[in-house]
Amino acid sequence: MLAQFANSFLLTEIVKGMALTFKYMFKSRVTINYPFEKGPISPRFRGEHALRRYPSGEERCIACKLCEAVCPAQAITIEAEPRDDGSRRTTRYDIDMTKCIYCGLCQEACPVDAIVEGPNFEFATETREELYYNKDKLLLNGDRWESQIASNLAVDAPYR
Ligand code: SF4
Ligand code: SF4
Repeated sequence: MLAQFANSFLLTEIVKGMALTFKYMFKSRVTINYPFEKGPISPRFRGEHALRRYPSGEERCIACKLCEAVCPAQAITIEAEPRDDGSRRTTRYDIDMTKCIYCGLCQEACPVDAIVEGPNFEFATETREELYYNKDKLLLNGDRWESQIASNLAVDAPYR
């Protein structure tokens, strides 16, 4: 009872709280001012999908459909036809991002590193429809993120 009175009278709890505040006042901050500042992400980060091209501009995907077959969420839909030059390319490549569980199996299955999960994690939308990605959208993502995707793949290459 006396100790409780002394604590209340001497404002011990407030003094302890202020001491804790002063202790952390001159230490480096652990919070960042997102979205203006962003934390580092691993080269293996599995973010938004992208379809890559070769430096010549030719799309990498050869329509083997391994990614479609391996996808546990059945989120990928591919249709393909041979081109006039005999090469096989997709005529449709859709990913339903609302089904995707970001497991990365499509990327692992691809023999030509065409479909990848890139570093972009800021692709929230207001409607579900915007998350039904088609081939144009995926190729656009590839063009936009190619330099970072290529450097991430190069860093991870010794472990694959
Ligand atoms: S990350 Fe997994 S769930 Fe998403 S499309 Fe690829 S294989 Fe399917
Ligand atoms: S993205 Fe890769 S695994 Fe999927 S169809 Fe194209 S080449 Fe095959």
